[in-house]
Amino acid sequence: MTFTVKPCAPKTVGAKAVLSRPVQPVWIGGEWRILSDTFDSHDPATGELLTRLSRAGQAEADQAVEAANRSLIGADWAGMLPATRQALLWKIADLIEAHADELAELECLDQGKTYATARFGELNGAIAQFRYYAGYATKLSGQTITPSIGYAPAGKQVMAYTRREPVGVVAAIVPWNSPLLMAAMKLAPALCAGCTVILKPAEETSLTAVRFCELIEQAGAPAGVVNLLTGFGHEVGEALGTHPDVAKVAFTGSTEIGRRLLGSAQVNLKKLTLELGGKSPAIVMNDADLDLTVSGVARGIFANSGQVCVAASRIYVQRGIYDHFAQKFAETAQSLRLGHGLDPDSELGPLVNAGHARHVADIVDAGRASGAEVLTGGTREADHPSFYHPTVLTNVRPDMAVMREEIFGPVATLTPFDDADEVVAMANDTQYGLAASVWTENLSAAHRLGAQVRAGTVWVNCHSYFSPELPKGGMKASGWGVENGAFGLDNYLENKTVCMLV
Ligand code: NAD
Repeated sequence: MTFTVKPCAPKTVGAKAVLSRPVQPVWIGGEWRILSDTFDSHDPATGELLTRLSRAGQAEADQAVEAANRSLIGADWAGMLPATRQALLWKIADLIEAHADELAELECLDQGKTYATARFGELNGAIAQFRYYAGYATKLSGQTITPSIGYAPAGKQVMAYTRREPVGVVAAIVPWNSPLLMAAMKLAPALCAGCTVILKPAEETSLTAVRFCELIEQAGAPAGVVNLLTGFGHEVGEALGTHPDVAKVAFTGSTEIGRRLLGSAQVNLKKLTLELGGKSPAIVMNDADLDLTVSGVARGIFANSGQVCVAASRIYVQRGIYDHFAQKFAETAQSLRLGHGLDPDSELGPLVNAGHARHVADIVDAGRASGAEVLTGGTREADHPSFYHPTVLTNVRPDMAVMREEIFGPVATLTPFDDADEVVAMANDTQYGLAASVWTENLSAAHRLGAQVRAGTVWVNCHSYFSPELPKGGMKASGWGVENGAFGLDNYLENKTVCMLV
């Protein structure tokens, strides 16, 4: 059957207005500026030019860092009452909610994802982030401590307390797979803690960041508290990572760039949180509820066309149900309808661009050449080069690139296993440790496997579930530190001890 992509246009007035601008601006110190240097952004489904963005570099990074440092200690922000900061965060959530349809349309056009994923998964997630951390803004407190060691002169006492202070200027560097949600996961806790921020979206998907920052301005954030720099990773990203006056980098992206940022951080020993790549296993036991598992694991790998850090890319199935599972899973993969993200009939959109789809095809082809069998998929659309069909591979070996590398596309491998010890060793045979899921009706097996798999999150009978309260981070090469919840907030706060003789 010939594959066609229905042309789709946004319906909301807001999305149309954003797209009608000749060039999108950056936001520095409260001022919106169009830069003379620009770069293009394309609709991944059609390859058509979507918009032009300002291309920031070292000079703009210096200006934004200076503005953010000024605002950090300015009375408007440093002196803002916690309840006012709480109201600001809540207002940002309200504005995202009021503009969610428009933001979802922009995200689909820019990134390729389906409208349902953008609107009901990611936009709702972003709103929840701001509402969750709004509550925390009035609950940041230190401790009073009675020291155990005395101090001269005799008769005096030592009293101490701790203060929780913002870590300083934060560079929030985000990837292209879930642009607005990833930005919200950094800005909400950073603003709650009283930090100031420079947001650097991925060059492939910067459009919603521009609109998001306009809403932050509309919510009443003082000038310079949030700044936006669009541009390339090796230019403006590098300038922020190496900047001596950036106190912290909150990074989500590839393990390769995470390693690079570790080096850059040495300049001032800036704090780093690194949310990096993954190669997450799904472990399916003989007693799993088969229908629930097939659809849950399929969502775990194919949602957002596999461009999800926690994607269930390595699927291990116990031998008793392996053949049955493989057949049903391949049928499910094959049934998914590909199309433009804004087409209501689409279940999967394109990959972020043709170059990335080529990369996915190359890894699958290399696996095939070394003996992997394609149960379904394994093809790219010649006339629509960003589209890659949902793919299921069997007969894979642990040394193959399809089993070791993060493909970041709609590609799953199926491997049979016999017992729990064997599957734990297989699941842990990776440099990554981001997430895993266990599918079983046996409570003891679920808890035992959950404890033995080395991953930042383990789901039981579900995959890719997130909520702002739940810490999310990676072990091994999947990263440093966590986002979300109270643990996530700690990354944006310093503990200061004040000690006095009384
Ligand atoms: P990437 O590492 O190429 O880019 C991420 C961001 O870093 C972009 O904004 C990019 O411009 C910037 N960047 C690039 N070079 C830089 C440099 N030298 N200095 C500073 N910044 C630089 O990642 P990507 O391809 O955009 O995203 C996909 C990756 O993100 C995958 O590996 C995926 O697993 C990961 N990811 C992880 C999580 C998580 O929570 N662990 C979530 C989503 C995505």
